[in-house]
This record gives sequence, structure tokens and C-alpha cells, in this order.
Amino acid sequence: MSGNSKIEWTEQTWNPTVGCTKVSPGCKNCYAESMALRLQAMGLKGYENGFRLSLRPERLLEPLGRRKPTIYFVNSMSDLFHEKVPFDYVARVFDIMREAEQHTFQVLTKRAERMAAFCAGREIPPNIWLGVSVENKRHGLPRIDALRNVNATIRFLSIEPLLEDLGHMDLTGIHWVIVGGESGSRARPMRAEWVDNVRRQCLNANVAFFFKQWGAWGADGQRRSKKANGRSLGGQVWDAMPA
Ligand code: SF4
Repeated sequence: MSGNSKIEWTEQTWNPTVGCTKVSPGCKNCYAESMALRLQAMGLKGYENGFRLSLRPERLLEPLGRRKPTIYFVNSMSDLFHEKVPFDYVARVFDIMREAEQHTFQVLTKRAERMAAFCAGREIPPNIWLGVSVENKRHGLPRIDALRNVNATIRFLSIEPLLEDLGHMDLTGIHWVIVGGESGSRARPMRAEWVDNVRRQCLNANVAFFFKQWGAWGADGQRRSKKANGRSLGGQVWDAMPA
């Protein structure tokens, strides 16, 4: 099923697979998991298996049916490079994205090594942006190195939830960085200086910087609603997209 997205940096979601398994601390309060379980309880088609990884080939053709050029976030409810998604199925997803050239597809993974293995020797069309999640130094920074080796026109980082100061980041070959804090009742805090460190490095390296949200914890370290904390950083909204 595809649908309008409330995510600030995209327009639509498309989920040719659903479900996943947790791989690192960024997964702890996975939104896709709680949403999948809720949709399963509601009896929604496609969520019969809850959060268990499931291929949804009946959804493969959805983007081809939409003429209006649209930015799609691929697999908001899963990870396309999960070990249980066979490469021949991933190849079918890429074939559809290639064919639907009127659209832009944002593919984001925590399985950066598997994405790099899939992409090796393949030509990635310019309408497919490839990205990795980065939540901390230990798990996140090595994913950036794997992403750098992927032959995509746009390579991006989703630094959400940002869980610690990332220190120095090598942004060579990276075109776009999104930063966000966690929301929800179990949200972990994100400190303003951690965000500022990423923003400063992006500006220095000429990388487009997008600040998505503070989440449950505001710039002043106070807990409020996500809406009340907003998405302004240093008195400014940062909405840059890659050129
Ligand atoms: S990789 Fe993404 S979808 Fe999968 S469990 Fe982690 S946060 Fe959830």
C-alpha cells in the first residue's frame, strides 16, 4: 500500500515489503513495529503477519500507476535490504523504480553492507537516492563508509534518532543529511550541541542539511509534545534538499 506521508522530507510512502527485525540501538522504539502491530490488530490487508518480514509483490506496480512526479520513501514499514528479502526481489523493486522515472525514490537502510553488495556492478538510475541510518558512532559511522562505495547520484544520511555526539564525520561523497530527535513516550533525549555538530560539518562540507524535528525533547532539554518542540534550530528552519 502506498500513501501520503507526514514525514517532512518525503511525499508518499511505498512498502513493497513490510516487517523487519532490530539490528542496532536506533531500532529500540521502532515506529514501524508499533504501527504494524496496530494495523494487524485492525485487520488491515497486508499486515496479517504483523511485524514479521513479508514480501508484498501485489504492491510492486503501485508507483507506475501514478503519473504526477512524486517523492517516494521506499519501505517506511520495513528495510528493503533485510536479510530475508532475496536479491531477485530487490532487483524487481529497482526495476520498477527505474521504469517509474517520473518519480524520485528514497531508499533508506540500516543494512548498509547488504545494500553495497546488491549495488556492486549495477548502474543505479539518478531517480533512486540511497541512504543509511546513523544513530550513533559505533553502528552508524561504518554505514556511511559502506554507502560511500555505492554508485548512486544522491547518497544521504538519516541521523534519526540522534543518540549521541557523532564527533567527526567523513562526509565525502554524501549529498544530503537529515537530523531528527526521537518522539513517543519512550523517546531518548537529543542534545542541541550534538545537532549543531552535525549541522556545522554539513555546512563546512557543502552538504544539504535538513533538520526534521526535535521530537519529545526540546532544544532546552525539556520534555514537551513533538509539535510544541517544533523544528527550528538556532532560530531557523533547515529544509535543504540535495540539488
Ligand atoms: S531497521 Fe528500521 S524498520 Fe527495521 S527494526 Fe530497525 S528501525 Fe525498525
